[in-house]
Amino acid sequence: MNAARPLPGAPHVHYRGNELYVEDVRIADAARAHGTPLFLYSKASMLAALAAYQRGFAGRQAKVFYALKANSSLGVLQVFARAGCGFDIVSGGELERVLAAGGRPADIIFSGVGKTRREMRRALDAGIHCFNVESEAELDVLSEVAQEAGTKAPVSLRVNPDVDPKTHPYISTGLKGNKFGIAHRDALRVYRHAASLPGIRVVGIDCHIGSQITEAGPYMDAMERILDLVAAVESAGIPLAHIDFGGGLGISYNGEQPPAADALWKQLLELLDARGYGQRQLMAEPGRSLVGNAGVCVTEVLYLKPGEQKNFCIVDAAMNDLPRPAMYQAYHAVVPVTASEATASSYDVVGPVCESGDWIARDRSLAVQPGHLLAVLSAGAYCMSMASNYNTRGRPAEVLVDGAAMHVIREREDTADQLRREKLLP
Ligand SMILES: *Cc1c(COP(=O)(O)O)cnc(C)c1O
Repeated sequence: MNAARPLPGAPHVHYRGNELYVEDVRIADAARAHGTPLFLYSKASMLAALAAYQRGFAGRQAKVFYALKANSSLGVLQVFARAGCGFDIVSGGELERVLAAGGRPADIIFSGVGKTRREMRRALDAGIHCFNVESEAELDVLSEVAQEAGTKAPVSLRVNPDVDPKTHPYISTGLKGNKFGIAHRDALRVYRHAASLPGIRVVGIDCHIGSQITEAGPYMDAMERILDLVAAVESAGIPLAHIDFGGGLGISYNGEQPPAADALWKQLLELLDARGYGQRQLMAEPGRSLVGNAGVCVTEVLYLKPGEQKNFCIVDAAMNDLPRPAMYQAYHAVVPVTASEATASSYDVVGPVCESGDWIARDRSLAVQPGHLLAVLSAGAYCMSMASNYNTRGRPAEVLVDGAAMHVIREREDTADQLRREKLLP
């Protein structure tokens, strides 16, 4: 057998000979068994990504809370729950998912700018670790809800450190103009207010500066700003049990070289130690960096459509399955499931949805024919969790690969699933 050739950024996706594999599963076999479009996830890849954080945190009181909005499928959550990971949720629905997957309430933190009273009550009743509160108005409501429930809500304030994460504007969250977090200059006042509320117990501080961050600099800047605040808040007599640095670490989609999680944390811990905070309870909320490179989306070529300016390769996956290109002009590598020596041409890879925004990849050199399979790489994060039914397309099936084993963690949606909640007029 030929030596396995891993693909950049996706160590568990590789060619053996001409055939593309996820771990020991030949993708062509998976597609034959489960149809296309199909998401395949490498369990080993997820666990390796988690292990990098755990190595970085070794010897510290530190814990990873997986931000499941990146990929909230139950089978994925089970992998992380069994590995001792906590969870960062952003809705009541995500709370139910974590509990259904066997996650412990005490390992859950609740982020997001628009928590409803009902969501707060459910999370309080479940007994989650803490609420990451993003505004004064939310603090007041949470205090009321906690009092009604006869308890105090554990609260960490999400502070906006006002640093530029140097990423796409839609995924930067820590600048002054963002809707997220409490402004750095208001934070001390809001902490004093929080400490005075009868239904609130202050437990920590939190920040999250953006997503797909590929350098350490913005994290270091944010940490300096947050530690300044920790000092100020604690001098005001409000102890902070934990410090949470959020998520946001990038992955390689197209040759980016973000720091590895353990290398990033080595740097951050040096700074924390230098400032005397290295022995605190530390938390991180990674999403993309735990699952992004673990996933591929397999799609079949339906038609080739040569044009005057562009050739189109029309595939059976679309923006409803893979929304990132349409939403963020994002790049995903697209590679053949069976490599060939045939002459390649340049194509835009597009889906069947009736929108010009429905593209998956542009100007790619591919040797393809109808019936061939393509793999869209780095599709583990913000793909299936953002998938929709636009054009009444059923969402794809998902398979978790573990060595040579395939576990269907989500069946393909059919039209009956989609029509189930609709009602005809009398
Ligand atoms: C989305 C989000 C994360 C995870 O971000 P990634 O870029 O996927 O690591 C973490 N914390 C909060 C509050 C988020 O909204």
